[in-house]
Amino acid sequence: MKKELFFKTESLWKTLEDEKLDTVQDFGESYKSFIDKSKTERKCIKEIIEEAKADGFISFEQYQGNGEKNGGKNLQGGEKLYFINKEKAVILVVVGEEPMESGVNIIGTHVDSPRLDLKPFPFYEDSELALAKTHYYGGVKKYQWVTMPLAMHGVITKENGELVEITIGEDPSDPILMISDLLPHLSKDQMDKKMSEGITGEGLNVLLGNRRIKEGEEKEGVKAYLLQLLNQKYGLREEDFAFAEIQLVPAGGARDVGLDRSMIAAYGQDDRVCAYAELQAILNLNTPKKTAMAVFVDKEEVGSISNTGMESKFFENTLDELLFLQEGTTRLSIRRALNQSRALSGDVMSAFDPNFPEVLDPKNSCYLGKGVNISKYTGSRGKGGCNDANHEFLAELRQTFKNHEIQWQMGELGKVDQGGGGTIAYIIGNYNTEVVDCGVPMLSMHAPMEIISKVDLYMTYLAYRAFYL
Ligand code: MN
Ligand code: MN
Repeated sequence: MKKELFFKTESLWKTLEDEKLDTVQDFGESYKSFIDKSKTERKCIKEIIEEAKADGFISFEQYQGNGEKNGGKNLQGGEKLYFINKEKAVILVVVGEEPMESGVNIIGTHVDSPRLDLKPFPFYEDSELALAKTHYYGGVKKYQWVTMPLAMHGVITKENGELVEITIGEDPSDPILMISDLLPHLSKDQMDKKMSEGITGEGLNVLLGNRRIKEGEEKEGVKAYLLQLLNQKYGLREEDFAFAEIQLVPAGGARDVGLDRSMIAAYGQDDRVCAYAELQAILNLNTPKKTAMAVFVDKEEVGSISNTGMESKFFENTLDELLFLQEGTTRLSIRRALNQSRALSGDVMSAFDPNFPEVLDPKNSCYLGKGVNISKYTGSRGKGGCNDANHEFLAELRQTFKNHEIQWQMGELGKVDQGGGGTIAYIIGNYNTEVVDCGVPMLSMHAPMEIISKVDLYMTYLAYRAFYL
């Protein structure tokens, strides 16, 4: 009787056949090489486009350029297009059999991750050290970022229009950068502080050098040596950095975790792990019944605002362009299409962590190894600001997952009133589209290195795939 009535899921490491587990390991390897090339949102978008192009996707601009297809009413089922937004967001589309006005299947993930950005005028010298001031991006626990090997990734357009790209700290022969911390011997006052105050935002100043120029200025000779180096290597002056996008991220690549190599630790897995599952789900997709859209956006970690975040009109504009290509019509069609659409907001979910049981409800948490997580709602303090999925849509999703043997679990973000969070789901919901959060369970979310289980990544890919089919 209990077996019939009680709900129980088992670890996928137990239930998947050995052959499938080999596939899981291979999938993890490809993912690691993807995430190593995707340390910033720009690099991640570039990588997504590379893989899409190899699968036959062509750019919207290229498609428009094909004369005979111009002017609408020509977009056919099976055609594959990509739309880029300012090198920081991209939408991949596989046109379905049915007209888009009858609804499309959307998966949306974000490709930005918490990090430290350089301030516009970052460089200064103190006590024979050259340092750079940073301003953190997204939700970081500041104490995690000190004494940590850091790499610098950046893009700068010089005054003459020349583009300079900087990557320092990823190659094993590169130097790394680092923020110092206080020795325990002198940390009495620091250790008595609240954790949120032990390391401050203004204290996250990264070490860049100690060597000084030999001739001339006594004052700021270390900063001078640093600027001289940057000038010799990249032709940059201090002023150029005021117009740059430069990020500090944990140095080095993804690593297997555990003696059994069951897990992966890497920087930026929130949310590039779901982005990878989403990308793989839309590649090699033969003409689906409904048009499949894979949306990859920026700025989720700072509220999804701005022209590259989910709040940007880019998503709507893209759908408008597609409807024009398919039907030659626009305004009303897009409203109808969005009204009939369904979406998964692909984002990671904090898994049950035995080190912190006090903040998690064991019955309503997801667990590493038990499959893709569905979050019916997010939000905080009484579901504030949440997207709470409708049961009609969840019933459809349940059926889809059942038909494709997708093992799911359903977790919420911590105990009631412990905190909370949100994703891009509510923004998609604003279009009257059915949407639910669905993604990979994770430990140490927003830490410099985040942890996921390989089986969950693979199951999330299968879930996203099933959603498109
Ligand atoms: Mn996220
Ligand atoms: Mn996040």
